Amino acid sequence: MSTTRNTKNVPYYMLGFGAFSHLGELLEPKRAEGGPVFFYVDHYFQDKELAGKLPAAPGDKVFFVDTGSEPTVEFVDDLADAAKAMLNGGLPCCLVGIGGGATLDTAKAVGNLLTNPGKAEAYQGWELVKNPAVYKIGVPTLAGTGAEVSRTCVLTNMRRKLKLGMNSDYTVYDQLLLDPSLTRTVPRDQFFFTGMDTFMHCFESYRGGYRNIIVDTLSQTAITMCREIFLASGDMMREENLEKMTVASYIGGMAAGNVGVVHPLSAGLSIVLHLPHGKANCYALSVLKDIYPEEYDQFTEMMARQKVVLPRGICADLTDEQYDALYQGTIIHEKPLNNALGPDFRQILTKKRLIAMFKSM
Ligand code: NAD
Ligand code: ZN
Repeated sequence: MSTTRNTKNVPYYMLGFGAFSHLGELLEPKRAEGGPVFFYVDHYFQDKELAGKLPAAPGDKVFFVDTGSEPTVEFVDDLADAAKAMLNGGLPCCLVGIGGGATLDTAKAVGNLLTNPGKAEAYQGWELVKNPAVYKIGVPTLAGTGAEVSRTCVLTNMRRKLKLGMNSDYTVYDQLLLDPSLTRTVPRDQFFFTGMDTFMHCFESYRGGYRNIIVDTLSQTAITMCREIFLASGDMMREENLEKMTVASYIGGMAAGNVGVVHPLSAGLSIVLHLPHGKANCYALSVLKDIYPEEYDQFTEMMARQKVVLPRGICADLTDEQYDALYQGTIIHEKPLNNALGPDFRQILTKKRLIAMFKSM
């Protein structure tokens, strides 16, 4: 099936080891327009070399983003309020997001909230952001989510018990700096779990019903790159693979958007057990052999090759309320479930079957 949606990509990117050193010159023309630069930097870098290399000028502000948990609507509302309090009615000339998916999404959400009234929750959905966002530059330091290139910023909303982003062309970054050297310090398990997010986005898209030839081609390319990184002999984190994973995330991010069964189960786990996204995806695929047999086998082999272990039994002894919440937190994602299984997805993924899947994790 071909789709006719008008599709926006990030207009500019700079790729290469050391690309980060060009941030200052990219900011110059924005500074000429007036207003400060606000940096949103993963808290991991607070006492690291990178923090000392930020091209910050007087009047700029560096916010270290706590990524101990994934961004919530309240979290980005607070950050937007803090930014507004410093701006006296003006706007920054640029926002810079530096980190993994959580930080990149945080900067995207703040960018929308600075030019659109009200709270983040009002923009969770599709095409709800009315005014163009503040200009923003994305610098991924952890590759796999595709957040650097996607048109969404995923926010947890515990009140509505869902994870949903501000899906909008205004959410897209204006410029990317893709510097694989920034990913050298990522812990191995984290590199695997986040890298797997690319694999999942792409095969879920490729196995789904909403497709077009561009997305299929991007998905296949990113899947091939993931296989080269995680299945070939040699370490997944060797230098050439850092660059390959950075690019696979970027390509996969352009293909993402129409996921399948993995992401709904993963969202349920994140809402109920607060599991981080990449790891939750891996738990989800670990019980989806029936639905994605080929990818299940490849994933199992990737885990074995990279010596990554998922401790079993995470949903073994939950309360009935928690099992119910896992079911509700999964089945609420109608669009991807419909994409993967068709309109009868509720008959295929019955409550009994889903709870049995969670219990077997
Ligand atoms: P993350 O951003 O949550 O970071 C995970 C951990 O890695 C954190 O502890 C962080 O401090 C650390 N880290 C990041 N870079 C590092 C580095 N270079 N060295 C050492 N440690 C580093 O992880 P993630 O998997 O990239 O992102 C997950 C988030 O992305 C979730 O909130 C998820 O919902 C979101 N997401 C968004 C999209 C999108 O299209 N917008 C897609 C998928 C997932
Ligand atoms: Zn994902």
